Amino acid sequence: MKWSDLPALNVAELRAALRSRQLSAREVVEALRDRIAEIDPRIDAYLSLDVEDALTQAETVDLDLPLGGVPIAFKDIISVAGQPCTCASKILQNYRAIYDAAVVEKLKAAGAIVFGKTNMDEFAMGSSTENSSVKLTRNPWDLTRVPGGSSGGSAAAVAADEAFAALGTDTGGSVRQPAALSGVVGLKPSYGRVSRFGLVAFASSLDQAGPLTKTVRDAAMILNAIAGADPRDSTCRKESVPDYTANLDRKLRGTRLGLPKEYLTDGIDPQVRRAVNAAVKHFESLGAEIVEVSLPHTEYAVATYYMIASAEASANLARFDGVRYGHRAENPRDLLDLYGRTREEGFGPEVKRRVILGTYVLSAGYYDEYYNRAQKVRKLIRQDFVEAFGKIDALISPTAPEVAFRFGERSTDPLRMYLADVFTIAASLAGICGISLPCGFATSGEGTELPIGLQVLGKPLKEAQILQIAHGYEQSTDWHKRKSPLAKENAERRTPNAQS
Ligand code: GLN
Repeated sequence: MKWSDLPALNVAELRAALRSRQLSAREVVEALRDRIAEIDPRIDAYLSLDVEDALTQAETVDLDLPLGGVPIAFKDIISVAGQPCTCASKILQNYRAIYDAAVVEKLKAAGAIVFGKTNMDEFAMGSSTENSSVKLTRNPWDLTRVPGGSSGGSAAAVAADEAFAALGTDTGGSVRQPAALSGVVGLKPSYGRVSRFGLVAFASSLDQAGPLTKTVRDAAMILNAIAGADPRDSTCRKESVPDYTANLDRKLRGTRLGLPKEYLTDGIDPQVRRAVNAAVKHFESLGAEIVEVSLPHTEYAVATYYMIASAEASANLARFDGVRYGHRAENPRDLLDLYGRTREEGFGPEVKRRVILGTYVLSAGYYDEYYNRAQKVRKLIRQDFVEAFGKIDALISPTAPEVAFRFGERSTDPLRMYLADVFTIAASLAGICGISLPCGFATSGEGTELPIGLQVLGKPLKEAQILQIAHGYEQSTDWHKRKSPLAKENAERRTPNAQS
């Protein structure tokens, strides 16, 4: 295999080459390093890279392990011992993690090589990665547009073939939505399926880690490694972990797929609607049965989420006060001045907005009116899914109402940005699992192709089923074979050499 072809491989292909010793782990790390050096100045997906450390891991890795020799990038909210973990925030600018997150530990135990920390919205608050205090990440399909967020660096790196796979976190859509906007696969496991030990907490009743990959099979391979009980995260589920790759090829004949009528309303980009309708037809041609269902409390999901998530964020982020972690204001007059100025200097505007909103909804006098009421609505939203799942195996919908937008187009209007999450947020509130995968392309005004994501939502702990549905769709369509222009550029350059 040629050196420059290597970064285009998916995880399953890479594993085959490593298992048969066609490639060494060192070669893989070096090829990826070169690819990042070439492409990342235009994408800016990575916040930090430790090439030496990755090469050291490559020396000793066991190539017979399930992910032996596969480099994986991590959203910069996931602790990797000794590496920066900034959450793209000034307040953690110089912070280095002191231990490995459970997901890192587990991926290493499965033979993966930790390579690179990716850009994100500050503390995972956002849908475009524009809230990063460090830099903007560009969408590899159109460099004038956002990659989605908050795991935008992870999504863009995979889409540009400068990561084989990456981990992100999803609190209200932050794995699925950037996957949709960047044209890759993104899986949010059920709440509790994957340990959050070592993830910087945003909203603890919602946070979950999940893979961003080039194919559905790759997502299943990574979930195999990261799922499972962990006594260090008390919310982590103890149920045994199936082999998520085992039944991927099972036929979809007879599968009952629900189409929530509230999810195909007027606010959707017509090109997105068209692609999702075509996907529905495609599922029918594969023998699936499509059932219209109702999730009647959908319209309250965004408001409910922003109250609950902000309330939890205001509590979780109280620890960043200049005493233990990261940035500390200079020459404080007293303790209150230290807290106040540290947070004023360290947090960006969106984080401040959430902390203020969260503190407000939790404050005496408003708690019942806002926070408690939001919890009640959350229960109703959860109940909507329970009822729908009584009739069907999984739900399908668009992942996001629109394709990738331009920088600055939404960032001045927080409410508009929040609405980018309408289709992902209810599933987060309900704690169910979901996956986004490419289902077509829209054409922008300037003629660029912009990916569209299809979301498949499943019952709690039924990741195997949504992976199987997504895989069945993917393998009978060609969308996943399309490469972003930046990834293609690499392929085009290879062709003359191949002929020589
Ligand atoms: N975009 C949503 C928010 O800003 C979701 C973020 C996430 O899932 N981390 O809160």
